[in-house]
Amino acid sequence: MTPLVEVRDLQKHFPVQRGLFGGTTGQVHAVDGISFQIAAGETLGLVGESGCGKSTAGRTLLRLLQPSRGEIRFRGDDITNLDSTAMLPYRRSMQMIQQDPYASLNPRMTAGEIVEEPLVIHRMGERAERRDRVAQLFERVGLRPEQRHAYPHEFSGGQRQRIGIARALALSPALIVCDEPVSALDVSIQAQIINLLTDLQEEYGLSYLFVAHDLAVVEHISHRVAVMYLGRIVELTDRTSLFETPLHPYTEALLSAVPIAKVTARRRQRVILSGDVPSPINRPSGCHFHTRCPYAHGRCRTEEPALRMVRDGHLVACHLHDGCASLPLAQPH
Ligand code: SF4
Repeated sequence: MTPLVEVRDLQKHFPVQRGLFGGTTGQVHAVDGISFQIAAGETLGLVGESGCGKSTAGRTLLRLLQPSRGEIRFRGDDITNLDSTAMLPYRRSMQMIQQDPYASLNPRMTAGEIVEEPLVIHRMGERAERRDRVAQLFERVGLRPEQRHAYPHEFSGGQRQRIGIARALALSPALIVCDEPVSALDVSIQAQIINLLTDLQEEYGLSYLFVAHDLAVVEHISHRVAVMYLGRIVELTDRTSLFETPLHPYTEALLSAVPIAKVTARRRQRVILSGDVPSPINRPSGCHFHTRCPYAHGRCRTEEPALRMVRDGHLVACHLHDGCASLPLAQPH
């Protein structure tokens, strides 16, 4: 079966300029050759620390940023280099929910106008039909239809995110990139929004790319999870395998930071991350994670590990798992 979305060796590099008129002095390797698929009705979680390239990957997938290299296929069609006119029908099917619902909603528009805007841009329906659709969407995301006359500042953070979700749903998309959609919300509100997104997925058969820095958040909504570090995917597998038998030391470290109650029935090995994510302009040689990895050995500093399948559907990029699917993690130094 053709996946809804297929990304092959996607790269997004940004030039580093010296001064206003200076030449290019380097490249930021924000996304550096990632590949994945998302099936219809599936959620792929994309996790990693701030600056690992996950949001850039989401925006590039939607063609809001032009890829530097690689291929993006939607329903089997290559959309990598389509111009804005040719992209129009695909844009209807690919929407985004942003992290900060306050910053992403136009403060001068009413909530109803914000939700209606995509319908106006894509010339969908007469005015009365659009208003009916907006009222339906308000109800579906848990807002009262009469609230469409209010402005964004009159809503709570959770309600503003519901407006963002209603707007993303307006054109009946097949894929929604959710870019840290609950990071700015209180924990109790986070659960409500995650439950709403799950219900909407079941009802409409939506696919999500769910971008988050918090593994505890993606655990609840993802079918599979990809872990990113410095522009690369270092581990990709189904949710259960990732939380119960993580193979990459970076995933282990991210899981160490998740409260114990949220990580059940998995081998708990404390791996503390030291230091910050290195600069994506001057990335460490070999395995980019070697400067922070407690298991790093000589080969890690010179040879970059490839992302390889070590178990059925479980991909990992780490020399500890080269050539032996059942190799246990070495003891940290
Ligand atoms: Fe650590 Fe080496 Fe594996 Fe990289 S390849 S994650 S440095 S053990």
